[in-house]
Amino acid sequence: MRRLVIVGASLAGLRAVESARRNGFTGEIVLVGAEEHLPYDRPPLSKAFLRQDGPAHVVPFRPERELREELDVDLLLGAPAEGLDTTAREVTVAGMGLPYDALVIATGATPRSLAGTAGVAGVHALRTKDDAVSIRNGLDAGARTVVIGAGFIGSEVASAARGRGLPVTVVEALDVPLSRAIGSEAGLACAELHRANGTELRLGTGVSGIESTGSRVTGVRLDSGAALPADLVVLGIGVTPATGWLEGSGVDLHESDRGVVCDATLATSAPGVYAAGDVAHVANPLFDGELMRLEHWTNAAEQGAAAARHAVDPAGARALATVPYFWSDWYAHRLQFVGTARADEVAVLRRDDAGLVALYRRGDRIAGALTVDRPKEIMKYRKRIADSGPWTEALAFADAGKASATA
Ligand SMILES: Cc1cc2nc3c(=O)[nH]c(=O)nc-3n(C[C@H](O)[C@H](O)[C@H](O)COP(=O)(O)OP(=O)(O)OC[C@H]3O[C@@H](n4cnc5c(N)ncnc54)[C@H](O)[C@@H]3O)c2cc1C
Repeated sequence: MRRLVIVGASLAGLRAVESARRNGFTGEIVLVGAEEHLPYDRPPLSKAFLRQDGPAHVVPFRPERELREELDVDLLLGAPAEGLDTTAREVTVAGMGLPYDALVIATGATPRSLAGTAGVAGVHALRTKDDAVSIRNGLDAGARTVVIGAGFIGSEVASAARGRGLPVTVVEALDVPLSRAIGSEAGLACAELHRANGTELRLGTGVSGIESTGSRVTGVRLDSGAALPADLVVLGIGVTPATGWLEGSGVDLHESDRGVVCDATLATSAPGVYAAGDVAHVANPLFDGELMRLEHWTNAAEQGAAAARHAVDPAGARALATVPYFWSDWYAHRLQFVGTARADEVAVLRRDDAGLVALYRRGDRIAGALTVDRPKEIMKYRKRIADSGPWTEALAFADAGKASATA
C-alpha cells in the first residue's frame, strides 16, 4: 500500500486524509478536488454566512501549510477526476493517469438545475462557497427573493432573507413541505415556522419558467400562470451524486440516482475502492441492511474517516452501524433529526413553546426522531434508536418530556 488517492476535497475527503494519517499510514496521499478552494465547511454557507452581520469570509477547515506539511498531502485542486480504470488502478486527472493502490471516492453531490436558467444572472443553487457569495451579494443588495424548493437548504436561505427583513417567497411542488423527508404532519409543523416568520409559501405549485430582462432574472412564472417578481432566485430542488466520471468504470452505481453502491464497510464493487459521504449508498445494519444515501454533515465526516481507515487496513474493516443525524437552523429554531423517517407510523407531540417532537415507528421499535428546539432530548432518542429501543418506551419518554416542558 504505497499510494492512497482521495477524490473529492471537501468534508469526507479531508476526514479521509486525517484518518489515514491518524491510523499510521505513512505512504503517499493525493487529494484531488474539482474546486480550486481548499476544503471548507458547507453548513455555514446557508446560515451565518448569509446573515447581515455574518462572517465576511469562508475560511478553510485547515490552512494549506497544515495540509501539505503536517498531513503531507499532495493537493490537486481545480482538477476534476475525469475517469477511473479499476483494472489498471488509475484515476484520470487532466488527461493523465494517476495510479492508486487504494482509492476513496468522496465527490459528494451536485445541485439539480432548472431548465432555462443557465446563464441567467441572479439565479443560483447553493452548494459552493462561490454560490454563497453570489447569494449574499443579492441579499446585500436588498433582493426580493424567491426560493424554489422548500427543503432544508432552501428554508435556511428563506430564514436568512427574513432575518434581514427582506421579502421572500418559497415555492414548493408538494402540498406539504418536506413530507417525503420527515412525513406530512412534521412537515406541516415546519411550514408553520415559515408562516410565523413572514415567509410566503406557495405550496402544491410547480414553476413553469424564469422571467428575465437582458439575461437578469426579474421573476418566477408559476404553473398557475401567476408570476412572482424576483431579483434573486435560489434553487433548492435537490442534488444528484457527482459520479459522471465513474460511468463505465466497473464501480456499481445505484439505478435510481447513480450514487456509488457500498457494503456496510464502505467498500464498492471494485477492489481497493471505497466511497464516503453524500455520494455513497451504504448498507446500514442498524436498519435491516437498508441502503442509505445521506446528505448529512456527520455522516460525511464519519464515513470519510472510516473509508480511509478501511482503505489503508482492509483486514481491519468493520461494518458501520450508525444512526443518521442532521440539524438545520430556521429563524431562531433548531431542527434536529436522528434515524430514518421511513416508518410505519409518526407520532407528533407539540410543545407549548412552538417546540416539537416527532417519533417514527418501525414495527415495535423507534426508528427516527425529529425535534424542534429540544437539543438536550435529541441524543436520547438517538441512543434509543441505536439500541433498537421499544416504541412504547420512547413514546412514554417523549410524553414525560412534554409534561416537564409544560410544567
Ligand atoms: C449550503 C449547505 C448547508 C448544509 N447544511 C447542513 C446542515 O445544517 N446540517 C447537516 O447535517 N448537513 C448540512 N449540509 C450537508 C453537508 O454539508 C454535506 O453532507 C457534506 O458537505 C457532504 O460532504 P462530502 O464531502 O460527501 O461532499 P461535498 O461536500 O459535496 O464535497 C464533494 C467535493 O467533491 C468535489 N468533486 C465533485 N466531482 C469531482 C470530481 N470528478 N473530481 C474531483 N472532485 C470532485 C466537489 O467539487 C466537492 O468539493 C449542508 C450542505 C450545504 C450545501
